[in-house]
Amino acid sequence: MKRRIFFKSLGIMAVSTGIAKAESKVEIINNKIRRNLQMGKFELPALPYSYEALEPHVDAKTMEIHHTKHHAAYVNNLNAAVAGTEMESLSLEDLMKNISKYPVAVRNNGGGHYNHSLFWSIMGANKGGEPTGPVSDAINSAFGSYSNFKEKFTDGAIKRFGSGWAWLVLRDGKLEISSTPNQDNPLMDVADVKGFPVIGLDVWEHAYYLKYQNRRPEYIGAWYNTINWDEVNKRYSSGK
Ligand code: MN
Repeated sequence: MKRRIFFKSLGIMAVSTGIAKAESKVEIINNKIRRNLQMGKFELPALPYSYEALEPHVDAKTMEIHHTKHHAAYVNNLNAAVAGTEMESLSLEDLMKNISKYPVAVRNNGGGHYNHSLFWSIMGANKGGEPTGPVSDAINSAFGSYSNFKEKFTDGAIKRFGSGWAWLVLRDGKLEISSTPNQDNPLMDVADVKGFPVIGLDVWEHAYYLKYQNRRPEYIGAWYNTINWDEVNKRYSSGK
């Protein structure tokens, strides 16, 4: 079901933007990944855009490695960790909510799968700019303005020591900023700030090192130009 939606959106994009060649390359790669995967419960989602789509903010090589190697490994390892156990019958969200009860391999790889699936979905080509829709009002009411939000979110993302994520979290109907180590996320019962993740930013070095080396702040500044506010609004509404 999910797979069909992704391919449908790829098709629409190829026609509407005239970059069918780049899109079909993504489709070939995604099919190859799928064949190479042990068919398990969890699947690597196809990207809804080409690896080049986020240039110059996030480079194509980083996107390709991040998706086909890093995310694919989280999915493979998660499937291996749940195989033959009671966890096989649980959704990813249910695993996250009670993660303290499950092995660390499920925390790391389940978190990795959830976080990256979210991350791909809230970015896109020719996006960024000021927020729109209900999430714009919610950002203004929680932080005063979008530029205040960016300042605080950037600060949290820069200060996350080592590998982790920065989050815009919906908690008790209000937006908050937080960060987590490794592949933890706000859905997990072990998170300091628990809630529904509306925006997630990957600040692992693998997300930016090829283009930005040690310059995490520069990567974060450029990444704002990829935010797909339509998708962020969808997440915000579903979290509400
Ligand atoms: Mn990553």
